[in-house]
Amino acid sequence: MQTYDKIYIDGAWVASTGSDTLEVFDSTDGSVIATIPSGTAEDLDKAAKAAKAAFDGWAAKSSEERAKYCTRIAEGLGARMDEIATVVTREAGMPKWLSQIVQAGLPINSFSQAGAIAESYEYEQTVGNSLVVKEPVGVVGCITPWNYPLHQIAAKVAFAMAAGCTVVLKPSEIAPIDAYILTEVIDSVGLPPGVFNLVPGVGQVVGEAISGHPDIDMVSFTGSTNAGKKVAANAAASIKRVALELGGKSANILLDDLDDAGFEAAVRDGVGKCYINSGQTCTALTRMLVPRGRLADAERIAAETVETMYQPTDPFAEGAMLGPLSSRMQVERVTEYVRKGIDEGAKLVTGGPEKPEGVNPDGYFVRPTVFSEVTNDMTIAQEEIFGPVLSILPYDTEEEAIAIANDSLYGLSGGVQGGDVERAKAVARQIRTGQIEVNQGAFNPNAPFGGYKQSGYGREYGTHGFEEFLETKSMQL
Ligand code: NAD
Repeated sequence: MQTYDKIYIDGAWVASTGSDTLEVFDSTDGSVIATIPSGTAEDLDKAAKAAKAAFDGWAAKSSEERAKYCTRIAEGLGARMDEIATVVTREAGMPKWLSQIVQAGLPINSFSQAGAIAESYEYEQTVGNSLVVKEPVGVVGCITPWNYPLHQIAAKVAFAMAAGCTVVLKPSEIAPIDAYILTEVIDSVGLPPGVFNLVPGVGQVVGEAISGHPDIDMVSFTGSTNAGKKVAANAAASIKRVALELGGKSANILLDDLDDAGFEAAVRDGVGKCYINSGQTCTALTRMLVPRGRLADAERIAAETVETMYQPTDPFAEGAMLGPLSSRMQVERVTEYVRKGIDEGAKLVTGGPEKPEGVNPDGYFVRPTVFSEVTNDMTIAQEEIFGPVLSILPYDTEEEAIAIANDSLYGLSGGVQGGDVERAKAVARQIRTGQIEVNQGAFNPNAPFGGYKQSGYGREYGTHGFEEFLETKSMQL
């Protein structure tokens, strides 16, 4: 077991002002793998003051100089890629081979990309007699979740720092070790003191201290919609800029013009897009909408896919596709939703609330589940479950499919799969979400990412994500 007994403020590892600690658990067997300090509001205050003091100097550096630091951080993370993948697999449960690509690979890409964008960005524009200048927002407080922990940290920290902002990070208390690795890397590249600060702890203490702190100019939050609402409300008192990346309940529409092979491929792919990272994915395609006449085929193909490809497995095992959930609380939450699905009358195609067999009983494993004959008013069609639970909903017309897809508080993601790509694109345009894949279009880590409706506001990654951390000044000449 590893003991992390320091936090990182003003370029130095220091003790927390409090003495409480938090335990970090191994999702594969429930053991404690680390303890971290449970930071205090006083810690956060010191970190915010350090970030504020560092801001002018950092903002005054050239974008090339800031980009160099980002590149060095990307290289430092690259050297520890395997360790990052292992840690996040233990924290969150994703199969190790996939963690390597996603949990370790994407953050490295974000640091490289942020630096490259900072270097090539046009910071000045002439509008009539005005020079319009882009400047860094100031001190950014970053609050992040556990499901793609370092990826979500990098989305904020890399782009904010590249834009000239200074940062205070509060990582998820469930998956904080990757944030410690990042901080060690940042410390090793000699970033000026105060530009990056790490204060781990719980949301109600450190998170709320961030959203309420007068020296923090912007809070960038990723997490649940409930916590996001509290962050926005608390930030309102000081008129902070707020970016929210929240939950989702995304629909995947399989159109009626798919041929049999296309339909089968779309169902199989749809199961995978729901189950990735054990379903702990904000963009997971959790509602599969199929033409009513093909419901039985969808059930058969989905059940066969789940039973042959997605049985719970030690995430370190070769070829593992479905690991555990991140915490005991998540197991309880997901199991409760499965029970609710059965109680509300959905048809259980495969899976169920019982504990799965053949895996460590102390690990946070659940049975992958598929429901059919789901109606959109059911709890399992409306609420984010964050586990391997797929709901199949039948529809009669394209208009109805679009209406069902849009009948959600959320608007994060979605999919449209069809025989005619132009028709599929036309349907995709009518779905109110921040991203949507057409015919299994691949995730693009440099495209803008964010939500409509209660999935939040603001965009991350790429140039759009970089611009979130810029203010606009008009200089009249
Ligand atoms: P969570 O909301 O419980 O916690 C997220 C972070 O917020 C944690 O660091 C937590 O400590 C902190 N927090 C909690 N309450 C807070 C408060 N009152 N004030 C300030 N900070 C607070 O979410 P989670 O369980 O860690 O993550 C899962 C959720 O995140 C899901 O709903 C998922 O959809 C969402 N998510 C969204 C995206 C996206 O980009 N849209 C990406 C990943 C996860």
